[in-house]
Amino acid sequence: KQLYGVEGWGEPYFSVNEAGNITVSPQYPSSEVTIDLYELVQSLQKRNIGLPLLIRFSEILSDRIARLVACMQTAIAKYNYSGIYQGVFPVKCNQNRHLVEDLVRYGKPYNFGLEVGSKPELMIALAALETEPDGDYQPLLICNGYKDREYIETALLATKLGQKIIIVIEQPQELDLAWEISQKLAIKPILGVRAKLNTQGSGRWGTSTGDRAKFGLTIPQIVDVVNKLKTTGMRDCLQLLHFHIGSQISSIAVIKNAIREASQIYVQLAKTTGNMQYIDVGGGLAVDYDGSKSNFPASKNYNMQNYANDIVAQLKDACDMGQVSHPIIISESGRAIASHQSVLVFDILSANQVSVTTPQPLQESEHLIIRNLWEAYNSIDLNNYQETYNDAIQFREEAFNLFNLGYFSLTERARAEKLYWACCCKIAQIIHNINQSHPEQRNYIPDELKDLEQIMASIYYANLSIFQSIPDSWAINQLFPLMPIHRLQEKPIARGIIADLTCDSDGKLDTFINLRDTKPVLELHPLNQQPYYLGMFLVGAYQETMGNLHNLFGDTNLVHIQATTKGYRIKYVVKGDTVREVLNHVQYNSEDLRETMRCRTEIALQNNRLSLEEAQKLLQNYESSLSSYTYLKNS
Ligand code: PLP
Repeated sequence: KQLYGVEGWGEPYFSVNEAGNITVSPQYPSSEVTIDLYELVQSLQKRNIGLPLLIRFSEILSDRIARLVACMQTAIAKYNYSGIYQGVFPVKCNQNRHLVEDLVRYGKPYNFGLEVGSKPELMIALAALETEPDGDYQPLLICNGYKDREYIETALLATKLGQKIIIVIEQPQELDLAWEISQKLAIKPILGVRAKLNTQGSGRWGTSTGDRAKFGLTIPQIVDVVNKLKTTGMRDCLQLLHFHIGSQISSIAVIKNAIREASQIYVQLAKTTGNMQYIDVGGGLAVDYDGSKSNFPASKNYNMQNYANDIVAQLKDACDMGQVSHPIIISESGRAIASHQSVLVFDILSANQVSVTTPQPLQESEHLIIRNLWEAYNSIDLNNYQETYNDAIQFREEAFNLFNLGYFSLTERARAEKLYWACCCKIAQIIHNINQSHPEQRNYIPDELKDLEQIMASIYYANLSIFQSIPDSWAINQLFPLMPIHRLQEKPIARGIIADLTCDSDGKLDTFINLRDTKPVLELHPLNQQPYYLGMFLVGAYQETMGNLHNLFGDTNLVHIQATTKGYRIKYVVKGDTVREVLNHVQYNSEDLRETMRCRTEIALQNNRLSLEEAQKLLQNYESSLSSYTYLKNS
């Protein structure tokens, strides 16, 4: 448990049971139902739902929304804030239908709405959000992103269905378009402006704000918008101020600064336009992927309540000082809502270990270089391991040179290499012992030796495409918690890195979460004759639609699991892509391919290059491959 930090990143949804398997509590906190993830995967396999497999425990969404709303309400009560909180979920975070539908359902008691950043997302949101013009349920639909005529026209017309739609002006020209269309349709829009704050974001998405940010209006542009609204008689249409300083903001200080600046802009706008109602603080609420509660990029140095408190307190102060009413607070948290509900489970196909055997005793007649390596090997201890490591590297280099010049036989070179690896193995063991017994000394391990653990690590080959299933790991080095989902009562004595199925050297995982820092190897179990399953956790945000078809590995199988009093129910199964489907994606027609292959076998048959049985076997395999999953069958 401790080794993989489950308590830090997984609580209260993930834990480890006495059998040494990961458990999931999807209905936390209202039920005691826990699901054994390993047993679940086995039972799904028996239903012919193979790995890799994305499992959604969408009830976790319900708890995430409830927590965020509760934190906001606590802050509102604490600071005597007179406005309310009304969240929206940014559809870009995970557009999949079952997830969006679940989210809308779980969000209903809290009037939780949706945010869209494009026309296709608008189409989803318009159909997903119910309208109850006379009821209490009135969720917001916030329209962000680049907009064309059709986008704005559709959004405006849909207000007639009873939906509360706010069009956020992100580019100066969008105002002209909105004005023209609203005149033509005779529909008064509710408008917002997205501000480019001066406050710098932090981390990977730090450039989402500032003058050079891609989206939003500078303060002079906002002033122009207000003036235009005044001259066109639409001043009261401006009701919302929006900002977004980037995703995964690890430091609370950045959030505080942003809300301080935005509150002042809000107050000024409220005074000038007279009908401001909403402040939309965007996304950015981070997820603690490594459980360190720090301002590392994979973590955050605040909790949800701190986040809510800072937003509400700053806004209240600014509004009271400026004597304007407290606005309705909207947030567009995506990552913090959707990450926890998805787990990606995959199997390990094989492992490749650096082969280290105890070296044969030295013979008198052996070459000086071999004798030097032997001596180095025998003398390694806690006091000289760094120096001896450098010696071993040098001796190996000399062995290569001698070989290249023709003075060393193949057997001598093999002997030198084996001795070198035996030295590395001994040194790696010393470093490992230091790490285990004195974690605080980790920083004292010389840089050149920090790589050694990784050089000595086994490569575990995973039935997975990193490019398809966890693209952020490849694109921006994002870290997700990764660990075996079973055998956790057994000490993981192997050290490994993970290589995926793609023929791409980037398709690997060689940096793993660690409480103090990252670590270059993952503690794993040696493979036995049984399947070995790993789980990648907190992958519910951004990964699914951003994944790509590198090497034509397609969408993985996907299941939605719902907890019941008896255990669980498989609510939906979405089968992953077949080979036929991914080939179709790159414009190959499987009928044409099959016919081409049939013709080829006929020609080969005529030339007696294969038998009729071989031709039939080949065509059968070709046909069944077209219908099969793009990943490997681990037999
Ligand atoms: N709102 C906007 C405008 C965004 O661009 C994003 C994503 O970066 C979000 C909300 C969601 O951010 P997060 O997932 O960090 O909550």
